[in-house]
Amino acid sequence: MVRPLKYRRVNQLPGVEIFKPTGIPIRLLKLVNLTIDEFEALRLADYEGLYQEDAALRMGISRQTLGRILLSARKKLVECLVDGAALKIEGGKFDPSLFFLRCEDCNEMIDIDYNKSWPLQCPSCRGYHIFLSCKNVWQKGELG
Ligand SMILES: [Zn+2]
Repeated sequence: MVRPLKYRRVNQLPGVEIFKPTGIPIRLLKLVNLTIDEFEALRLADYEGLYQEDAALRMGISRQTLGRILLSARKKLVECLVDGAALKIEGGKFDPSLFFLRCEDCNEMIDIDYNKSWPLQCPSCRGYHIFLSCKNVWQKGELG
């Protein structure tokens, strides 16, 4: 039996997608992928300084799972420092409902239905200026 994908609750997305050593083109660097849920675990445990029990609770996972995520995340960060690798933060088991469409004209927030194509027009004001947003600041970085 296939276990259903269980999302981990993420409250904040990284503002930057890629970190890399200066002066070296990204194509020449080893790329390490930190997932969004790994980022969130680090943020809660190591940045906000929560106890692992509390951080786990916030992410809707067990303390054991959080411990495993933290171990993997810290190993990746150290790998970047030691090997001079670039860090790309993306993917992972986090809730895609964080993403929504926002109308620039009337500020309406439109939920995305991943099974349907996205609307081109705002259902409220019929405006066409709708953009993909995240409930947190998230900017797509450029590779290079
Ligand atoms: Zn609108």
